[in-house]
Amino acid sequence: MNALESQLAYVFGDTIPAPGTLLPVAPGVAWLRMPLPFALDHINLWWLDDAEAGAALIDCGAGTDATRSAWEQLFAGPLNGRRLARVFATHCHPDHVGLSGWLCERFDAPFWTSAAEFGFARMMAAGLPGVDGPSAIPHFRRHGLRDPAMLAQMESRRNYYPSLVPSVPPAYTRLQDGQEVDIGGRAWRVITGFGHSPEHVSLYCAALSVLVSGDMVLPRISTNVSVFAVEPEGNPLQLYLDSLQKFSDLPADTLVLPSHGKPFRGLHQRIEQLRAHHSARLDEVRAACTKPVSACDILPVMFRRPLDAHGLSFAIGEALAHLHYLWHDGSLVRVTGEDDIVRFQLA
Ligand SMILES: [Zn+2]
Repeated sequence: MNALESQLAYVFGDTIPAPGTLLPVAPGVAWLRMPLPFALDHINLWWLDDAEAGAALIDCGAGTDATRSAWEQLFAGPLNGRRLARVFATHCHPDHVGLSGWLCERFDAPFWTSAAEFGFARMMAAGLPGVDGPSAIPHFRRHGLRDPAMLAQMESRRNYYPSLVPSVPPAYTRLQDGQEVDIGGRAWRVITGFGHSPEHVSLYCAALSVLVSGDMVLPRISTNVSVFAVEPEGNPLQLYLDSLQKFSDLPADTLVLPSHGKPFRGLHQRIEQLRAHHSARLDEVRAACTKPVSACDILPVMFRRPLDAHGLSFAIGEALAHLHYLWHDGSLVRVTGEDDIVRFQLA
């Protein structure tokens, strides 16, 4: 546990659900964990009692053999005979929607998410130009990545999303900000969030004082906030910080169920920690911009650890998100050099 985590209360201590099991965390709400093939090695899913002895699932796990076999173990064991009545997705990232097509088809269950998350999941699963792997290469080159070995590694990730999301359901039920959704006789309010993904869905149940935060508020790591090739002028960090404000009205004792890490209380402290984190990052970036710098130039300032291709693609996006925040607020100017590299400098 790091110093910041010690300001939060991990309600269940170090207890986590073993593979193939569910752990009750609130009345009618159970916690499942699925493996992930990354440094971030797990995702949390939430299994909610729904109407007529059916269940609602929030998020699905990545489309890997390990996740499929964990599901088979659950369906043969503790979930034997249970009907999955609805599948919700907080957002389009592969660990969240990966097996949505597989699960919805298996149970003939409808798929619930926001319009933008549905659209992006469909676009990325189809590998459309602009959101596919190859589109990232000129974006990274423009922002200073010129190392041929690293570019070759990036190139080899061209099939990243479809490889983890074999199918997305062809139709969906729309979730919108402020909407109240009845799950198992309790009202859950949709809180949309921006900056991490196009229209992220968090769900809050006042009766249980439970927030399914998805990736918008995580207890240990900060949510990835990146500028991507598909939206090259974007200001996702501003969107993310504005979105955090939407959670600050929730009660201080809200039980937060995050997609990564462990359930906790201390939502308001965590939001303050995240604000402080980004504010410190922005100070570092501002200090590095006394001369023209590209996103790649400031990676050693922001990330003091070696990065593989997966980590590097997130790091460049994240560096750019901080540069764009300062560019959009007028602190920095943006210039494109004769080498076609984009650089930022104090205005
Ligand atoms: Zn995500």
